[in-house]
Amino acid sequence: MSKINILIVGAAGRMGQSLIQEIVADKDLVLMAAIDHKTSDKLGRDAGEAFGILTGIKIDHDISKVISSADVLIDFTRPEASLEYLKLCEAHRVKHVIGTTGFSDQEKQKILNASKNIPIVFAPNMSVGVNLLISLVEKATYALKDEFDIEIIEAHHRRKIDAPSGTALRLGEVIAKASGRDLKKVAQYDRSGNKGERKEATIGFSVIRGGDIVGDHTVLFAGSGECIELTHKASSRATFAKGALRAAKFLSHQKTGLFDMQNVLGLSSK
Ligand code: NAD
Repeated sequence: MSKINILIVGAAGRMGQSLIQEIVADKDLVLMAAIDHKTSDKLGRDAGEAFGILTGIKIDHDISKVISSADVLIDFTRPEASLEYLKLCEAHRVKHVIGTTGFSDQEKQKILNASKNIPIVFAPNMSVGVNLLISLVEKATYALKDEFDIEIIEAHHRRKIDAPSGTALRLGEVIAKASGRDLKKVAQYDRSGNKGERKEATIGFSVIRGGDIVGDHTVLFAGSGECIELTHKASSRATFAKGALRAAKFLSHQKTGLFDMQNVLGLSSK
């Protein structure tokens, strides 16, 4: 099998750096370019400098020179940046792994539209464990939905800009679907003030931000006389990076279509 040429955008970021570290250790992948925003103070530095490995690839801001040689672009940036990269991927027929979170419904529609021309993996959480959690939560919801109140609790580091996390929202969507509800109608994001008793069939979200927490998610099924908690805790970004690289390898066999990590990991059929 020939090696897969990977282009990283957001290369100077927390996830970008974790991805580069994993790529240099992977015999099937080649880091062919590392791109970050034109204002990044890391431009011109070797992409592996921060973790002590010289990759021979410098962090640059000009993607136009390299995009057409990429097989897969891996993108953990910001929604507005990812949508620009999506257009470039479509124009150059480059496969796109999107790990960025915080897209509006309208923006998600653009990703779906582009997937008619190129294959895309789009997942708010690329860790194997979280995707197993999603499957377990779906099963638990089918079993418990009528008698248990369902709450989603998430915690992340102080620099995360969107809330609730993309993973918490994904869990909410899965629970809503498995219990025949519409998340837009039943999601409860705020309980401050005198909002009264918990309304039946709502799905509550609680958010914690602090320190360097990589990402914790708990789904609480609270019944009368018993509670069940399903929890995932990420202790390293490597778990997301490894998942993103599995997604890149998965895409190398796809021509078009929108996939999530459930597809990549074989937890659902498509
Ligand atoms: P970060 O702020 O550390 O890194 C983002 C990087 O993107 C920065 O270096 C920034 O300069 C760069 N950037 C911004 N605009 C750009 C542009 N136009 N072109 C190129 N680079 C650009 O953030 P992070 O912690 O690495 O997270 C990035 C995104 O990934 C967030 O949306 C986060 O929620 C998401 N995330 C997803 C997963 C997952 O598994 N899907 C896991 C962790 C984080």
